[in-house]
Amino acid sequence: MTAILALEEVKVHFGGVKAVDGVSLSLRQGALHALVGPNGSGKTTAVNLMSRLVDPTAGRVLFDGTDVTRVPRHRLYRRGLARTFQGIRLLDDLTVRENVLAGLDALDLPDARKASQRRDRADAALARMEILDTAGLEPSALPYGVQRRVEIARALAGDPRVLLLDEPVAGMSAGERRDIAEVLHRLKGDGLTMLLIEHDLQFVLGLADHLSVLNFGTLLASGEPQTTAALPAVREAFLGG
Ligand code: ADP
Repeated sequence: MTAILALEEVKVHFGGVKAVDGVSLSLRQGALHALVGPNGSGKTTAVNLMSRLVDPTAGRVLFDGTDVTRVPRHRLYRRGLARTFQGIRLLDDLTVRENVLAGLDALDLPDARKASQRRDRADAALARMEILDTAGLEPSALPYGVQRRVEIARALAGDPRVLLLDEPVAGMSAGERRDIAEVLHRLKGDGLTMLLIEHDLQFVLGLADHLSVLNFGTLLASGEPQTTAALPAVREAFLGG
């Protein structure tokens, strides 16, 4: 297996709280990996570890075969890691395109220094999310599901190799979820490696290539999605959560 991003025996302890407590996890290149678990099981902390927003108390983070445990996050993002957050983080006094450009500016990519190159990249990312027609609008004028797509477009503008999505469909209608599922499927077809955090197990089952289940900061199970979801321990954790 070619792992592009991996956690090796990582722990994140906040005082007495063991948010993540000895987890090893690797994302196979080109696969859509789902990370599920009840509330408080450590999913967001795991993504924060992978994107260098928190330092591990112990263990290592590897990206593309190198140890990035202490690498500043902007360097990691420039090497091809991107993420979205649980809540919407768009600037309402900017247009959709300007929001995407702001994400790109932060990366300061050598091949996107000209305004025209940056605009092309932003528009390509919006087109990938099928929302190029909203480029000149302000996010607050758009339905919630479209705003979430803008966030994914912003993450895609730097043309990342790995995209971490923290509950991208939370709060979406059933129709919006179906649409996003299609878009994620297509991104996978383009070869993008993704980690999808979700607490709705059903949503990820039709979509993910690999399922990992966290519970109380530890990895309860990891493997083929249907088989993993059917394990008694996994079912129990979800009934309890
Ligand atoms: P999930 O995403 O699965 O809901 P989190 O990773 O957000 O879980 O949280 C895991 C545990 O770590 C929870 O008990 C949470 O309260 C705790 N936690 C997360 N971040 C912090 C922090 N910055 N300080 C203290 N406790 C935290």
